[in-house]
Amino acid sequence: MTDSPASGGDRYAQLRDAMIAFRDARDWRQFHDAKNLAEGLSLEAAELLEIFLWKSTDESRVMAADPAVRAKVSEEVADCFLFCVLMADAFGIDLIDAAQKKIQINAQKYPVEKSRGRRDKYDTL
Ligand SMILES: [Mg+2]
Repeated sequence: MTDSPASGGDRYAQLRDAMIAFRDARDWRQFHDAKNLAEGLSLEAAELLEIFLWKSTDESRVMAADPAVRAKVSEEVADCFLFCVLMADAFGIDLIDAAQKKIQINAQKYPVEKSRGRRDKYDTL
């Protein structure tokens, strides 16, 4: 074993395998159909959103400086990510490849020369 950090792919594979082992040790695969995973992801995203409930945009921008808020956001983004990992596994999707492809697709939809500094949807650029 080396002291160098695992590559991104290795780290993802290790994390995915740990999540699958966590699930299988509890015999939860039977509950992890696509519908339930999508619902779980949506609920975790709602928990992330709840952190910012009733905050102004300006307040939300400075919340990252609060360690307690950062810890809660860290938990909720991890929950979201883990549901994505389970969903990708259920569909045989390589999540890293899918995300890389999506960045390329978005780059085509939002060319820098048209979208820089703008928040318009791609079809109205
Ligand atoms: Mg959560």
